[in-house]
Amino acid sequence: MSEPSFFDEGTLIAVLTTQPLDRLLDYRAPEGGCFLGAFVEVPLGPRKVLGVVWGPGLGDFDRSKIRPVIRVLDAAPMLEEMRQFLGRAADYTLTPMPAMLRLATRSPGLGDPPSMRKVYRLGHAEPERMTDARRRVLEVLRDYGGLAFTLGELAETAGVTASVVKGLVKQGAVLEEESPRDQPYRRLDPDLAGMTLTDDQAAAAEHLRAGIRSGAYGTTLLKGVTGSGKTEVYLEAVAETLRRGRQALVLLPEIALTAEFLKRVEERFGAMPAEWHSGVTMTERRRAWRMVGEGGAQLVVGARSALFLPFRDLGLIVIDEEHDTSYKQEDGVLYNARDMAVLRASICEARVILASATPSLESWANVESGKYERLTLTSRFGDAELPDMSTIDMRQEELPSNRWISPALVGEVRKRLEAGEQSLLFLNRRGYAPVTICRACGHQIGCDHCDARMVEHRFLKRLVCHQCGETKPMPTVCPSCEAEDRLAPVGPGVERLQEEAVSLFPDARIAVLSSDLFGSARALKAKVEEIAQGGADIVIGTQLVAKGHNFPLLTLVGVIDADLGLQGSDLRAAERTFQLMRQVAGRAGRAEKPGVALLQTYQPEHPVIRAILSGDEEGFWAAEAAERKQAGVPPYGRMAGIVLSSPDVQEVFDLGGVLARNDAPLRRIGAQVFGPAPAPIARIRGRHRVRLLVKAAKTAPLQGALADWVAQVKLPANLRLAIDIDPQSF
Ligand code: ADP
Ligand code: ZN
Repeated sequence: MSEPSFFDEGTLIAVLTTQPLDRLLDYRAPEGGCFLGAFVEVPLGPRKVLGVVWGPGLGDFDRSKIRPVIRVLDAAPMLEEMRQFLGRAADYTLTPMPAMLRLATRSPGLGDPPSMRKVYRLGHAEPERMTDARRRVLEVLRDYGGLAFTLGELAETAGVTASVVKGLVKQGAVLEEESPRDQPYRRLDPDLAGMTLTDDQAAAAEHLRAGIRSGAYGTTLLKGVTGSGKTEVYLEAVAETLRRGRQALVLLPEIALTAEFLKRVEERFGAMPAEWHSGVTMTERRRAWRMVGEGGAQLVVGARSALFLPFRDLGLIVIDEEHDTSYKQEDGVLYNARDMAVLRASICEARVILASATPSLESWANVESGKYERLTLTSRFGDAELPDMSTIDMRQEELPSNRWISPALVGEVRKRLEAGEQSLLFLNRRGYAPVTICRACGHQIGCDHCDARMVEHRFLKRLVCHQCGETKPMPTVCPSCEAEDRLAPVGPGVERLQEEAVSLFPDARIAVLSSDLFGSARALKAKVEEIAQGGADIVIGTQLVAKGHNFPLLTLVGVIDADLGLQGSDLRAAERTFQLMRQVAGRAGRAEKPGVALLQTYQPEHPVIRAILSGDEEGFWAAEAAERKQAGVPPYGRMAGIVLSSPDVQEVFDLGGVLARNDAPLRRIGAQVFGPAPAPIARIRGRHRVRLLVKAAKTAPLQGALADWVAQVKLPANLRLAIDIDPQSF
């Protein structure tokens, strides 16, 4: 760590703000001076905005007009390595710097001093006169039950001015209190006794510890079947990191998984780590953000955005279930947490551990080329065995219409019911039915704003668009031909499968695990725990259940539609299906009892289905790799998706055409452009979307060429252009 340099009062400094400007702005250092990297509040026109001191001033404005910094915020200055990380991440993802800074400052109340802070809670008195604004404030306080807000947070959340809150304080409807300073985290003790590792595990752990001790950057792919003890092993790497006084970050793909994981951390280290994800309260977030920066949080467990926290001295990043698609951020700044972790670690001399039973093809390729090292845990811990996998050939099964659980699968579930064991029926489709069709005219009910069908959710009693979230009540009349009572559900979702299971197994306790059925992460966690302890005989679930939950009593997994992911032209479909099926099957037989996984399929001869059954991963990945090499696509080539969107369909196609014709900057690096074509979802929230795909050789300087290419066109006001480096589907 280099000492931040200091600017004396009145010196010209350049500040990066979170405002969408394409340059740094000059200010004067405030009274008392400021450090390089300091978080500051600066005037911009009539407003005050957040910024970071980025370097000496450029001095290219009229010096007499340069204004001073308003105040230096009470937060640890951003370190040189963090500034470098944001800069390189911006270059890689072609994101403007202000947007990167916004990612890194997503902390409510950033800059409020930790002590002497006033916070606001619900009072006991009713206000004399109720207005809409007042009602909103009280509702927010009620909704967040007992949580204390700062004035700014409360006003912003309720969408009112601060004076509305102050007015309520005068009347006793809101209480104003001094808040205690941020609570420090309890120390984690890396030397508490962990589990006794098997020889295999111990060797892997020692290898990882040696990496940590080296203090140099390096990435390890930790591969092992579910239940082989990967978590146990990487916790040893966390322990070594803490021993050396550095900080560690563990990323998990799913908030619902954090509870189970936090418990394990607490057992291993004797205290709870910091948490960072969307389910964490604002107070907790503020605490985590500050403590991470001050070095008081030794371990952070979180979602992908935790990569942008201002760590003081980050020594280890673990990405659990590294193949998971949720590590790709698909909104705003488009980034892949795996790439960003490797980038950040290489800048701050940290280690990266990518853990998975079914690694991404990207990681396989990086092992192959020697960029990552690989550690393999071969067997499951204890006597637990990998489940036996086989197919149920649906062409041979007699099924009445609107039934999806084959007689063969029903028989297997019955056996488990008799033996007091659990079964999982897996179907990766939320809701009741994916399609609602009019039996009179054939019309399918679609979303008004998106190019997508509405999905019936009986639990919510509504039709839901899975693209934009729009919902509407189920109509009784066909919106197209106006026939009455002719709308019918087509195909199954988990809710419909539940209906079938209830009629087949009337005495069984049946639980459905689907993200939309739970009001909160907490409710979901509670359900998962109840199931793990035997609170259900049959679990029906979406991909939510594929992600690492421990259900020790589960011995049967039935995949309702193993063909679901194989349709479509997406080049990653095979990889995804393989990963998902192996992950789901891995849920069975985690404890003493051996498990069985049965895949219902209409194409038992399909090469992907055969690879899933045989478990010949190396063979599968080799074949996948050969195909991708042949096509010159990631990870053996580079790709970028450019999505143009606008309410005006003509405008997006026109501009797409202009870009496609003016491809000289791309041709210079040997890249090709395809399209414009309708994007995978051609309309979302009323905006038409077209996509151009750019393909280049692995070594081509793609980002620079893309920047030059899109700079050639001027964007009409309501047209948006988003660049997605390494898109998920192509
Ligand atoms: P993975 O992360 O590979 O899925 P886990 O680390 O979660 O595997 O281990 C699976 C289960 O086996 C966990 O309940 C874990 O506590 C247990 N386990 C793994 N290794 C050991 C060990 N050496 N001693 C005792 N229990 C172990
Ligand atoms: Zn929609």
